[in-house]
Amino acid sequence: SKMVYYFGKTKTEGRGKAKSLLGGKGLNLAEMTAIGLPVPPGFTITTEVCDSYYKNGKKLPAGLIEEVNKAVAIMEKELKKKFGDDANPLLVSVRSGAAVSMPGMMNTILNLGLNDAATEGLAKQTNNARFAYDAYRRLINMFGDVVMGMDHHTFEAAFDKIKKKYKVSDDTDVPAEGLKELCEAYKTVFEKHAGTPFPQDPIEQLSLAVEAVFGSWNTARAVSYRQIENIRGLLGTAVNVQSMVYGNMGDDSGTGVAFTRNPNTGENKFFGEFLINAQGEDVVAGIRTPQPVAEMPKWNKAVHKQLLEIKDTLETHYKEMQDIEFTIEKGTLFMLQTRTGKRTGVAAVKIACDMVKENLIDKKEAVLRVPANDLTQLLLPSFKTTARNAADVLARGLPASPGAAVGTLSFDAQDAKARAAEGEKVILVRKETSPEDVDGMHAATGILTSTGGMTSHAAVVARGWGKCCVAGAGDVQIDEKAKKITVSGRTFKEKDVLSLDGTTGEVMAGEVETQEPTLSGDFSKLMGWADEFRTLKVRTNADSPADSKRARDFGAEGIGLCRTEHMFFEGDRITHMRSMILADNEKDRRAALKKLLPFQRKDFEGIFKAMNGCPVTIRLLDPPLHEFLPHEDKAQKEMAAELGVKPADVRRRTESLHESNPMLGHRGCRLSVTYPEILEMQVRAIVEAAIKCAGKNIDAQPEIMIPLIGTAAELRVLRERVEATIEEVTTQKKFEGDLKILIGTMIEIPRAALTADEVAEYADFFSFGTNDLTQMTFGYSRDDVNTFLPDYLANDLLPCDPFQSIDVAGVGQLVEIGVTKGRSVKKKLKIGICGEHGGEPASIDFCNRVGLDYVSCSPFRVPIARLAAAQAAL
Ligand code: PEP
Ligand code: MG
Repeated sequence: SKMVYYFGKTKTEGRGKAKSLLGGKGLNLAEMTAIGLPVPPGFTITTEVCDSYYKNGKKLPAGLIEEVNKAVAIMEKELKKKFGDDANPLLVSVRSGAAVSMPGMMNTILNLGLNDAATEGLAKQTNNARFAYDAYRRLINMFGDVVMGMDHHTFEAAFDKIKKKYKVSDDTDVPAEGLKELCEAYKTVFEKHAGTPFPQDPIEQLSLAVEAVFGSWNTARAVSYRQIENIRGLLGTAVNVQSMVYGNMGDDSGTGVAFTRNPNTGENKFFGEFLINAQGEDVVAGIRTPQPVAEMPKWNKAVHKQLLEIKDTLETHYKEMQDIEFTIEKGTLFMLQTRTGKRTGVAAVKIACDMVKENLIDKKEAVLRVPANDLTQLLLPSFKTTARNAADVLARGLPASPGAAVGTLSFDAQDAKARAAEGEKVILVRKETSPEDVDGMHAATGILTSTGGMTSHAAVVARGWGKCCVAGAGDVQIDEKAKKITVSGRTFKEKDVLSLDGTTGEVMAGEVETQEPTLSGDFSKLMGWADEFRTLKVRTNADSPADSKRARDFGAEGIGLCRTEHMFFEGDRITHMRSMILADNEKDRRAALKKLLPFQRKDFEGIFKAMNGCPVTIRLLDPPLHEFLPHEDKAQKEMAAELGVKPADVRRRTESLHESNPMLGHRGCRLSVTYPEILEMQVRAIVEAAIKCAGKNIDAQPEIMIPLIGTAAELRVLRERVEATIEEVTTQKKFEGDLKILIGTMIEIPRAALTADEVAEYADFFSFGTNDLTQMTFGYSRDDVNTFLPDYLANDLLPCDPFQSIDVAGVGQLVEIGVTKGRSVKKKLKIGICGEHGGEPASIDFCNRVGLDYVSCSPFRVPIARLAAAQAAL
């Protein structure tokens, strides 16, 4: 099949082709060419070629070079230049471009086609020797770097020597003869490290470069990025070969990167940076700090105006915020790239809402535009105003990616990763970040760099992850070797704490206090639209009035899981709980439970109040009893003293409760079978609290949920007990009203799902406990899975962590069986999910598909679930 797609005046072959074939960059170059924007001509080699390159044992497929040569010939004709010509050489850039944009992950080579003779020719032809040798030294450097895998720093010493010789400190001040000497020095360095001279044949350069781009698809950093972003199923990368235009031809030339709107805040204002007399890589790599595009009119008014027009054309065309790269050659503007711009969660929400206002997209599209998980960033804490005002501000960098980060300092990515894995909050401090740093950037709570602009690699990547980043804080002097920074005369070392404000760019000493966010403005507007489209209801997992209230503020429509065990740990309660567990007869157990009753009743009353008018699913005690007892000698002695018993008794009871597989042991409904008095106390507390609420005009809607049911018989027996207790309490309290308490079960054991028709006879509702259901379906202990899960993910034995995103094929099948069988008996059976999956977008999509009534998740995930539920419905 066709391997090369041309774009230029002669023809644009790639327009409308699949992104998976041409990659994002290639497809958009074709599209921009087709809509008449000034794009230098070139061609794209497909991702299929990358795939066959790997399948062929890393060999370029037969016929590729012939197709490439044909495309080069068309370029030559359009531009009236010749590839490999000594006098009038055609130079090209070679860039990667996969279907999913991976900023900074893949390699670029510029000025390809130059050799000794062509450089001399170019110098003569442009009457600019400085420019020609500058281009050549960049080629040798990049070629060494990318194609030969030489260390980025290998060439630095040679450059420093030349700068010293000419007594200049900036690259741009080195004169032509210096650069000419530099090219010779670079060639020597190249040959020494690569073991072969720098190739003088442009065709050889090109085919080596294409192979190098294919090779970069599988570098550790690219693989790592794909893993972090969960990018799967791509064939490989495409290669874009494009005729060069030069931003480094003098002070009337330049290059830049811009976003059609502000990617941090979403503000509808052109946002970008440019560098005069520079090539593209200088901006992205963050080596020189560029100027804002708003300053451009002072330099070239016409180009600025044209750029703004192109911005509008692109937004109207793509109806999406774009991230563009451009170059100005001797006053003429060229577009080198456009793609959907990465943005923070805050910006995503604002842009979606604004574009609806501007009639670019409709509400439905707006709801689909915002990745549900990105809302996390709108729910992140920020610094307290009072604390920030009082903070010890050390320096101010660029507000590259918003958020508040507090942590100790780490000076290299691997160290950051290791310390973060130990639970330490670290700030990754780098002069500039390179793509090799992605792992450490991901692990860090915040990123601080001393050079680079708003569009540097660090900024773009951090923004994509919603990670706080302050870039280009020039006042911070970083000594990576000595692991310290110096700023305003003070020194900070590894263990010192800094606070970063990614919204203002401030770097502050010590820990600055943070605060919780609130929902407002565009966020609630978008949430409102989401609510119009979704059919799934969203509840929350909460077991305190404060959590219930927060979740309700976030839009929760009830509680899907109130785990009562958490309530037994506070204050005196644990003492009563423990004496209940130690009791060796029913009478003593009942006595201890009686003391717990008022606490439980009060808890429930508070929760019913916070959830007034919404259902509250309360789960009866679930964990094995040993979880409430201390296991260390000292603590056991203290407990014995407190309860007035012998330490030996405590030890004996703890030992007797020991189980080899506690998760498969005496827990869940099995506790209620053995100790019905626990169930009775909890049900009594629920009923009494509901009756109290009724007296206060609070609409309590309790739903009693029995955990870990495996057989219908279990539920039958326990349901009878619950009903009897409700009856007993209402009679005792002479309550005349109608409490309408539902009694249902969790489905978290495969057998319960498989026999859901039998179980449903005794259930008013089902709630899938997919944490346990996953544990028991896979047979993976949910508490120990990390001993082997990383190996499974690394070896592609699992597509993702099944405890995070539901395993549709296995666990999902059980859910579907449970739903179908349950509703075969009770057509309108209310069914929800309360495992962690209830807050994960892909799992929510599944829940929607199989017809659940609601999902339930932690309070902070409620907005994410609302949006994901709408996206699932659309
Ligand atoms: C579950 O198993 O999915 C569940 C919600 O219960 P827990 O996590 O408390 O075991
Ligand atoms: Mg469970």
